[in-house]
Amino acid sequence: MKVEEEIRDIFSHIRGLIEAYQDIGLGPPPLSADTLRFLSPDQSNNAALNIKSAGKAEDNRDQPTHPASLKDLREHIGDCQRCKLYKGRTHLVYGEGSPVAKLVFVGEGPGYDEDLAGRPFVGKSGKLLTKIIEKGMGLTREEVYICNVVKCHPPKNRDPEKDEIEACAPFLRKQLQIINPEVICCLGRVACQALLGRDFKITRDRGKWRSYEDIPLMPTFHPAYLLRNPSAKREVWEDVKIIMKRIGLEVK
Ligand code: SF4
Repeated sequence: MKVEEEIRDIFSHIRGLIEAYQDIGLGPPPLSADTLRFLSPDQSNNAALNIKSAGKAEDNRDQPTHPASLKDLREHIGDCQRCKLYKGRTHLVYGEGSPVAKLVFVGEGPGYDEDLAGRPFVGKSGKLLTKIIEKGMGLTREEVYICNVVKCHPPKNRDPEKDEIEACAPFLRKQLQIINPEVICCLGRVACQALLGRDFKITRDRGKWRSYEDIPLMPTFHPAYLLRNPSAKREVWEDVKIIMKRIGLEVK
């Protein structure tokens, strides 16, 4: 590909992203962590999807937005084909739970079972997450909100790619803006890096409060990781207890 074509492609991609954000009443997408690092060495820890990094955050929260509810946003997303993941999906897995949830769980993307069911976290990992919510926290799935960074199942359960995460990011960001929870519980490396930047390391950084657009965020292991490494359940339980205290739940 010629240099001119590459530059044209890059600008076309950026324009597409900006339009996607504007369509749902969000400000422009943030600069990538790499760009921020290039612009200022002091900015290396800025989040990849954190609009504050773009310096426009506070302005946008009070502005009128287009889809005002989760239902409106789902209608806006429609039969989305903004990234290549649409080709392999059975269902677009939007998310489910309370629109006024105090706590939102964010995973990386729908797996095989979720793709078939059209619902987030319903397979083996989902059953473990449900156990954490119900038996651990004393809540129901209907009282929290559960969603993913990308809404369509990546083939062969691979990690979602950077362009797919970027294409889908405005939807997650808008979901979180609409719900405005007290806490986000971010599940696993991929989701945490999508929300907090690529410098995030799950084994080093889990269990410590971070924030995403001014919403406190607790990173912890993905339930799929717990299925492979049951001994890590103890660490997740410690993280869950911190969340419970924060949202006013009794820890027994
Ligand atoms: S993953 Fe997101 S951006 Fe890609 S097709 Fe699905 S809904 Fe659209």
